[in-house]
Amino acid sequence: CGIFAYLNYRVPRTRKEIYETLIKGLQRLEYRGYDSAGVAIDGNNNEEKERFIKLVKKRGKVKALEEELYKQDDLDSKTDFETHFGIAHTRWATHGVPSAINSHPQRSDKRNEFVVIHNGIITNYKDLRKFLESKGYEFESETDTETIPKLIKYMYDNRESEDTSFSSLVERVIPQLEGAFALVFKSIHYPGEAVATRRGSPLLIGVRSKYKLSTEQIPVLYRTCNIENVKNICNSQMKRLDSSTCLHPVGDKAVEFFFASDASAVIEHTNRVIFLEDDDIAAVTDGKLSIHRLERSASDDPSRAIQTLQ
Ligand code: GLU
Repeated sequence: CGIFAYLNYRVPRTRKEIYETLIKGLQRLEYRGYDSAGVAIDGNNNEEKERFIKLVKKRGKVKALEEELYKQDDLDSKTDFETHFGIAHTRWATHGVPSAINSHPQRSDKRNEFVVIHNGIITNYKDLRKFLESKGYEFESETDTETIPKLIKYMYDNRESEDTSFSSLVERVIPQLEGAFALVFKSIHYPGEAVATRRGSPLLIGVRSKYKLSTEQIPVLYRTCNIENVKNICNSQMKRLDSSTCLHPVGDKAVEFFFASDASAVIEHTNRVIFLEDDDIAAVTDGKLSIHRLERSASDDPSRAIQTLQ
């Protein structure tokens, strides 16, 4: 099982280069074992001005997924977006048979409003699924994972203001989850943005930019939210967020981010990596990576520092 995701901000890439990066990332993770693979990429917006998310999923080898991807449109065209964000996954089934529908990314609905890749196991998925079904969300897979995109859509559908951020939705999802997870989220509502988090399963972020990178600490205010229904069934609490670490190229320059469950998938692109800790939430918006932690203060945590791999 493995996670790999790639975000290019103001670094023009053809669709083929993006597919290659995603597939190569998955191939580096193949040694860990898996039964199926899938990706979510930004649709080309040539005809339709609206963005959409394309899902390609296959039971079997990464090679089969690659062949499927290469049948797709316009390989040599540059993407039309300032940021392209693709997520990719190899699945080792724990809940639900190996099949295309059970492979990841799992999605919130038929429009692919939210898509998620997950390593690990959500132990309370039955309760979550029951709750979400009672609210009218329809499930299509047998996985524990599918509760996560549905839950974030539930948070989105019940958000209290129009400018609710992607990461604050994820903040509301995390306390509802029991078990182990590394997660990367993508959404049509937050084009060009990425959110990643983990608990008990590894996740790291590689950073590549030819520009100098700046880091800063940003205080984060206490957030309250209105999730009484889900809270009741899971009996958990929102935690205070203390501070956020930000990383971005000086002067809003081009940058690329690589998310992976294993450093071996990132090392060919960059040796500058940040290992996420439990309950860290990492978000990229406008090429700027910010990381904050639920509950604990991140300000003087050495593990948060960017590291150079040997
Ligand atoms: N529990 C999830 C599933 O069965 C994720 C498995 C994995 O880590 O690949 O779909």
